[in-house]
Amino acid sequence: MTRYIFICGGVISGVGKGVATASIGAILKSKGFKVSAMKIDPYLNVDAGTMNPIEHGEVFVTEDGEETDQDVGHYERFLDNNIYAVNYMTSGKVYLSVIEKERNLEYDGKCVETIPHIPNEVIRRIKAAERKTKADFLLIEIGGTVGEYQNNVFFEAARRLKLKYPEKVLFVLVTYLPIPSKLGEMKTKPTQMAIRTLNSLGVQPDIVLARSQLPLDRPRKRKISVSGNIDIKDVISAPDVESIYEVPLNFEKEKIGERILKKFGLKNRPSRFKEWERLVKVIETAKKSLKIGIVGKYFQTGKFVLADSYISVIEAIKHSVWHFGFKPEIKWLNAEKYEKNSSALKELEDFSAVIVPGGFGKRGVEGKILAIKYVREHKIPFLGLCYGLQLATIEIARHLAGLKKAHTTEVDSHTSFPVIDILSDQREKIEKKDYGGTMRLGAYKCQLNQNSLAYRAYKKRTVYERHRHRYEVNNKFLLQLKKVGLKVAGKNPERNLVEIIEFKDHPYFVATQFHPEFKSRPLRPHPLFRELIRQAIKRAGI
Ligand code: GLN
Repeated sequence: MTRYIFICGGVISGVGKGVATASIGAILKSKGFKVSAMKIDPYLNVDAGTMNPIEHGEVFVTEDGEETDQDVGHYERFLDNNIYAVNYMTSGKVYLSVIEKERNLEYDGKCVETIPHIPNEVIRRIKAAERKTKADFLLIEIGGTVGEYQNNVFFEAARRLKLKYPEKVLFVLVTYLPIPSKLGEMKTKPTQMAIRTLNSLGVQPDIVLARSQLPLDRPRKRKISVSGNIDIKDVISAPDVESIYEVPLNFEKEKIGERILKKFGLKNRPSRFKEWERLVKVIETAKKSLKIGIVGKYFQTGKFVLADSYISVIEAIKHSVWHFGFKPEIKWLNAEKYEKNSSALKELEDFSAVIVPGGFGKRGVEGKILAIKYVREHKIPFLGLCYGLQLATIEIARHLAGLKKAHTTEVDSHTSFPVIDILSDQREKIEKKDYGGTMRLGAYKCQLNQNSLAYRAYKKRTVYERHRHRYEVNNKFLLQLKKVGLKVAGKNPERNLVEIIEFKDHPYFVATQFHPEFKSRPLRPHPLFRELIRQAIKRAGI
């Protein structure tokens, strides 16, 4: 029997519901249960693929090609499970299917209304996820903040589920307790109000996860307990932490796992967090740091948003650096700076490894190409991801194969040397303005060349990696590129597409058409990142 745990947020957005959901999942998994997680996003976009990552954070891609919110990445990293398309829903998806059914006369001539048809569709989707995952616990995170107009129908669906299966449904409310600087005192009132707002939707929280800068004291817990009708043991203190990977351990200190099991009438089991504890110890105590540079375009919106736009890349670097017992020092390097002043490229010398991550469009491209040339010539360990592979191919074509104006047709549609080009099926989609969910998405097969760094990293011939792109290496130029030292280390056998390139006589020059970062897990770093970091450590001489 699957039990549902709804996780929702109160007071402010950005309180870390995603990490809270993932952490509760990790705890239940460590107790030996089968756990899966689901994200509900209230926006009308059908998926996250059409949203600007600068505003909304990274677009995460599942194994089966769904473009989701970055929280799904947290679930995968904490649960060490794959999350599939069926575990992701948006208002857009829900409304679209209801309207499609209406058009197909599936409602037998009835008047189709927001209530009950929208919550019914939400419940149908939750059940589909339950059938697919067969989990003991399905965690369902409701995006947004309680009291918003946008997510009301999801609370309505959850309320109806609870009414139908009272013993199978639990609600966790994640709130925030501010400490106004002038008062210097932690305030519970917004949390009390959030509980009431939730009550007004017919939902009583079973557990309150109280996020704050500091741990909650007993009087604060008591206030929330009394005013919110919640057992004091179910008011869980969730203070800020240095690393998100500490969160499950912190929650466990407050016995959240035991409380959840008790509410479902289940016996407690010990949680097994040995390896996880070891990881947190490294995170907390590692002294020697390793400087890794990410070359990207500079986003005016500031550092915080930048980190969010590339969260999986950043996490993947951290996993690998921690794996070797070091402390990651990740720096954002502005590609456009290199375009204006090529002597700025010298700063790359300070880094033990350089990454050029995925991206779209023209801005910063020339700077990234210059950075790739620099790391190739100066033998700085390099990993290119998706656009990073495409720009590395252009770099080699321009500077070594003599194809001076080589480019990708994404940026220069009339280039005489389209070393990166769009395949005809993708071109048709763009011409029809059929943009949503139509890139090459999700996991595809990659056959490795046994004589490659990639093969030595993976230690197997065939791997499956996740994609999100439209453009590909143009095979017409391969021979010319190979002659000057480019090596094809991996290919997709079905369509004969280049998946991994390397460069001769370089300690680590590897670039992938796919996004390995989506598959890196805290206790199982991705092999291509791990080997990059191994070389970075050598370069740093630490
Ligand atoms: N813009 C490139 C493409 O569409 C690369 C995409 C990416 O880096 N995810 O092919």
